[in-house]
Amino acid sequence: MRLQCISCRAEYEPDPWLFRCPRCGGLLEVMYEDIDPAPTQGHGVWRFRNALPPVGRMISLGEGNTPLIKLEVPRRRDVYLKFEGANPTGSFKDRGMAVAVSIALDAGAKAVLAASTGNTSSSAAAYAARAGLRSIIVLPRGRVAKGKLFQAMLHGASIVEVEGSFDEALRAVIEYIEGEKGLVYPVNSFNQWRLEGQKTLAYEAAAELGDAPDYVIVPVGNAGNISAIWKGFKELYQAGVTSKLPVMIGVQARGASPLATMTERGLREPAWFDKPETVATAIRIGRPINWQRALEAVRESGGTFISVSDDEILEAQKTLARKEGIGVEPASAAPYAGLLRLDAKIPKDSTILLVATGHALKDPGIRVETEIQLAVTITDAIKFIKKIAISV
Ligand SMILES: *Cc1c(COP(=O)(O)O)cnc(C)c1O
Ligand SMILES: [Zn+2]
Repeated sequence: MRLQCISCRAEYEPDPWLFRCPRCGGLLEVMYEDIDPAPTQGHGVWRFRNALPPVGRMISLGEGNTPLIKLEVPRRRDVYLKFEGANPTGSFKDRGMAVAVSIALDAGAKAVLAASTGNTSSSAAAYAARAGLRSIIVLPRGRVAKGKLFQAMLHGASIVEVEGSFDEALRAVIEYIEGEKGLVYPVNSFNQWRLEGQKTLAYEAAAELGDAPDYVIVPVGNAGNISAIWKGFKELYQAGVTSKLPVMIGVQARGASPLATMTERGLREPAWFDKPETVATAIRIGRPINWQRALEAVRESGGTFISVSDDEILEAQKTLARKEGIGVEPASAAPYAGLLRLDAKIPKDSTILLVATGHALKDPGIRVETEIQLAVTITDAIKFIKKIAISV
């Protein structure tokens, strides 16, 4: 196993504390001489231990193994949705955290540290608790969905709130770890070990579908997950497990779309958003730290970045909930919104995989129109039921 710089390709010995190339500052990627992508016995992402970094103690809450659901609504199309909301804390972050927190133990850390829009905090706090570590979470004040914040508090995280967006919170983490090493282990998605856990989504989906899908549509915030999933599919293809590589489509929210804007305008660098704004808080990120790997994933795969409006996201969330029975948080509905937007450009006979990153309960603050009738008496209640029954 080696660490390779994603920019200058210099290689380094594995080191749990190395996150940037000493030569050029680029982020790092885990490279293996030889992997076996077949699952073994056991639970969680560690079923794929022969394609993951070896660790002293495999921390797990049984993450992964999430439902792959074929959608009913898209006609004459094979659209599958990987429901990552079924992970132990309700998002795909658990796949990464299982590995990152195991590495933190090997690194001798006493606590994990993460900036978060919400789900990383829920996951880091739970997995740290499991491993007997403390968790320190940096959050954008007043901007974290209720369910996520509650989980972080429940699992005993120490919380630091900053004014501003996620990007400011992440800057605090990065500047802290530049000065301090040994005690507090960072588990944001610049941590290449965490991304190893997240790549297992590709392993599972390929096994369930019998091959790689033709298209994978992923919501993009800090841009780690799309990179991790692409890495997984590449490894499967290189190992001869799958016959093809998917086209990767990254979906951003219009008000936080540095990569989609870059693509639309043909820029050479992301169009940074200083004040990212969207109802999809999990992807409310203006400066995605993994932009280079995500860009490479999209380019290598022949895909693209697109953006969708908040209205499209909320409409997609509603359709998934009311026509498919699948409850996801707003960010996780972005791929479905993206699919509707791209529909004509995707050949009819292709297999499409939507990554539904997090559970609906994460964000109960979303306004949904519902009819609620207040019945004062039982007779009233029966009257209302009868009235509704006539209309079904
Ligand atoms: C973290 C998260 C994302 C964004 O993933 P990145 O790796 O930051 O691009 C999307 N949806 C949900 C629900 C998330 O928790
Ligand atoms: Zn480098």
